[in-house]
Amino acid sequence: MSRNVLVLAEIRDGGIRSVTFEALGAARLAAEGGTVNVALLGAGVSVHESALREQGADRIYKVEHEALRHYTPDAYTQAFAALLKETAPDCVFMGHTAIGKDLAPRVAAKFGWGLISDVTDIALVDGELVFTRPIYAGKAFQKKKTTEAVVFATIRPNNIQVGKPDASRISETVDFKVEFTDLRSTVRHVVRQSLGRVDLAEAKIIVSGGRGVKSVDGFKPLEELADVLGAAVGASRGACDAGYCDYALQIGQTGKVVTPDLYIACGISGAIQHVAGMSNAKIIVAINKDPEAPIFKIADYGIVGDLFEIVPLLSNEFRSA
Ligand code: FAD
Repeated sequence: MSRNVLVLAEIRDGGIRSVTFEALGAARLAAEGGTVNVALLGAGVSVHESALREQGADRIYKVEHEALRHYTPDAYTQAFAALLKETAPDCVFMGHTAIGKDLAPRVAAKFGWGLISDVTDIALVDGELVFTRPIYAGKAFQKKKTTEAVVFATIRPNNIQVGKPDASRISETVDFKVEFTDLRSTVRHVVRQSLGRVDLAEAKIIVSGGRGVKSVDGFKPLEELADVLGAAVGASRGACDAGYCDYALQIGQTGKVVTPDLYIACGISGAIQHVAGMSNAKIIVAINKDPEAPIFKIADYGIVGDLFEIVPLLSNEFRSA
C-alpha cells in the first residue's frame, strides 16, 4: 500500500537537524513507493533544499516568511496546518524535539487525529506500520499500530538510521504561500546561552556529571574529557539542583531524553528518574566511588573509584590515542 507522507524539516542554528533525516528515512519506508513531501518552513531556507532532496524528499513545500524565522506556536501551526490541507497525507512525521513536542499535539488536536509520540522505531509488518515507543519511563517498550486515517508520529532523535544521501535524486520545490492571521506571538530577540558544545539531544557521546562532581569547578575535568571526545556535557538533576551546572544540561524524566552511542556517567547514583532519560544509550560507562550505586546495574562498564582521579586519566589516554 503506497502512502503519501509529510515530514517537517527542522532547522536549527542554520542547519537541518539530523532528526529530520531520520524522519525522512522513516518516511521513505512508510511511503512504500508513495510520495514523500517535506514542509520546509522559515526565512532564507532555500539552501536546505538539496540536502532534503538527497535524503529522500520527492517534493519540498517551501514556506518562506519572516513570521517563520523563529519557531512560534501560532505561525508554525498555521503554516503546517495549511500544508496538511494541501498535501492530504496518510502519514505525518516530525522530530520529538522541543518544537515537535509543542507543534505535533497542537496540530493533531486541531485536526482531531491521534498522535504516537516519542517513537524509537518504525517497521512495516505485513504492510502495516508498527511503531515502537518507550513506556513506564523507558522501562518497557510498546509496539503500536493505529487505525487512524492519518498516522501522526514524533520521532525521538538518534534512533532511526539515516540513509546515505543520493545526489542523483530528483525533487520538485513548491513555493507555498500562507496567509497568516491574528499572530499573537513574535520573537524579538533570541538570547542564546552558549554552552559551547555539541547539542545534547543529538550527541553521539555524552559525558555527564552528578552531585558527585561537588562544585561548578568539579565539572571542568568532565568538560575536558568531553572536548577530547567531541562529546556533549550532561548532568543529573542532583547536579543542577546543587547549582553546579545549568538546567539546560539536565537529563532524565523531567530533563532531556538522550540516546547517544556512549554515555559516561560520573558521580551519578542512577536514580530511576535519571535513568529514564539515558537508559537507551548504546553503551553506558559509570564512574562512581560507591560500588553499590544503582547506576552499576544498568552500566555496560563500571569503574569504582574517585571521578577526580579517573576522568583526567581517561582524558589523557584518549588524547594520546
Ligand atoms: P546523588 O544521588 O546524590 O548521587 C551522587 C553520586 O555520586 C553517589 O552515587 C556517590 O557515590 C557518587 N560520588 C560522590 N563523590 C564521588 C566521587 N568523588 N567520585 C565518584 N563518585 C562520587 N534526576 C535526574 O537526574 N533527572 C531528572 O529528570 C529527574 N527528575 C525527577 C523528577 C521527580 C518527580 C523526582 C522526584 C526526582 C527527579 N530526579 C531527577 C531526581 C532523582 O530522584 C535523583 O535525586 C537525582 O538523579 C540524583 O542525582 P545524582 O545521582 O547526581 O545525586
